[in-house]
Amino acid sequence: MLLIVRGIFWFGLYTFLVTFPLLVGALAVPHSGAPSLSVDLADGLGYVAIAMLGLELALVSRMDEAAGAFGLDALLQFHREAGIAAMLLVVAHVTLLLTAAGYPAASLGLGPGVPWPIRVGTAAAACALLLVAISLARRRFGLRFESWQLLHGLLAVAVVSLGALHVASLGRFAASLPMQILGTVYLALFVGVHVRHRLVRPLLILRRPWEVESVVPERGRAVTLRLRPVGHPGFSFEPGQFCWLNMGRSPFHLEQHPISMSSSAEVPPDGAVAFTIRDLGDWSGKVVPALRPGDRVWVDGPYGVFSPDREEGPGYVLVGGGIGVTPLVSMVETLADRRDRRPVILFHGAHGEGDLTLAERLESLRGRLDLSVIPVLEHPPPGWTGETGLIGADTLRRHLPREHGRFQYFVCGPPPLMDSMERVLPSLGIPAARIHSERFEMV
Ligand SMILES: Cc1cc2nc3c(=O)[nH]c(=O)nc-3n(C[C@H](O)[C@H](O)[C@H](O)COP(=O)(O)OP(=O)(O)OC[C@H]3O[C@@H](n4cnc5c(N)ncnc54)[C@H](O)[C@@H]3O)c2cc1C
Repeated sequence: MLLIVRGIFWFGLYTFLVTFPLLVGALAVPHSGAPSLSVDLADGLGYVAIAMLGLELALVSRMDEAAGAFGLDALLQFHREAGIAAMLLVVAHVTLLLTAAGYPAASLGLGPGVPWPIRVGTAAAACALLLVAISLARRRFGLRFESWQLLHGLLAVAVVSLGALHVASLGRFAASLPMQILGTVYLALFVGVHVRHRLVRPLLILRRPWEVESVVPERGRAVTLRLRPVGHPGFSFEPGQFCWLNMGRSPFHLEQHPISMSSSAEVPPDGAVAFTIRDLGDWSGKVVPALRPGDRVWVDGPYGVFSPDREEGPGYVLVGGGIGVTPLVSMVETLADRRDRRPVILFHGAHGEGDLTLAERLESLRGRLDLSVIPVLEHPPPGWTGETGLIGADTLRRHLPREHGRFQYFVCGPPPLMDSMERVLPSLGIPAARIHSERFEMV
């Protein structure tokens, strides 16, 4: 199916699922008996909010059917914005009840005289506020990524369960049979997405184990893990894609990390694939370097749409910052293995020469395709004659060929590089449709 048609289908389905309860409610209960229109409006906002919150997990539950149409970055962004929008709807729901509908503040509290369905709703709203707050200000709260991930998951389940209980026990609309059927279907969908994500997927991964073949130190506090499939043929992938790596005892272990393949997508007969991982914290700095040949690793993937296989063009410009070079190296390796003759220009930004991860690998590929590698160092060593500073419009202009406007652009690196390229590339006349990016950061 054409990508745009798939995109329209999934977005249409999302909009339908979010708004359908309003339609069913209006048809099933034309006269709600609410004291005022404001209460009906507040209820409507609440229904949309709970449907949006219930769908939040589906957006990030690695459903390849939907992710394939939008890409991880776009889906994560949508997940974040939909979460904030749902929280604002919850606030609007409460505000309307307090102001326009005239309910006293105490009647929405947790106090002893307040009916339990309202207390449950208030608890759901408080959890929703906390959920959004810790996600927007994780770093400011000094919360470790893993702690945030656990808290985020627990709060999300609390918000949806308490919210659903609040809606189901609070009368007017929910008491009608069509709304009860709809509520049951939505709950089944929510549970189904959880079961698929937390039970079915790990069970499938359990049947396809991988083991470490080698662990090789690289420049820039990184190591390259070469993994080979055990008792199965492995997978095929597109250069630029990533997998979730899990180094726990079983695939049910909660800690998993997204890591791009750094080897060629022309996978060798033994099915081995490589991942290059930079020490950025507990897992990448302690667990990964401690791995030894023969150790078990669980691999879920491949995922992602950040790939030249999906973007035809007469040439490629790759811009990588730090460890963001890994998917770009996979692209170059793959084009070399395929004997692709199209020009590839790779800008590789790093702090110093010692941080140019996989530079030797790129150097060795130069003879096998039309590849130019331009290292750009923030802190160059004495005698360095190459590019210095941050990759900017001038750096690009100095190296891009005249026909660069028709090339495809792939950008991967830390947030400042991504933000800068989002401004710089359009200013060089590159249309948005030819700029593809992957952020190595989730929250
Ligand atoms: C699509 C994608 C591809 C990536 N490819 C690579 C790669 O090829 N090589 C590489 O070195 N890094 C890659 N990363 C980044 C890598 O996932 C994190 O650096 C790694 O998870 C760090 O974990 P940590 O516990 O060691 O560090 P921490 O100090 O705990 O985290 C550092 C940062 O990494 C991110 N992070 C941590 N844990 C996770 C997690 N479970 N899921 C998502 N993000 C997390 C968070 O933004 C966090 O702030 C990629 C990230 C994404 C989103």
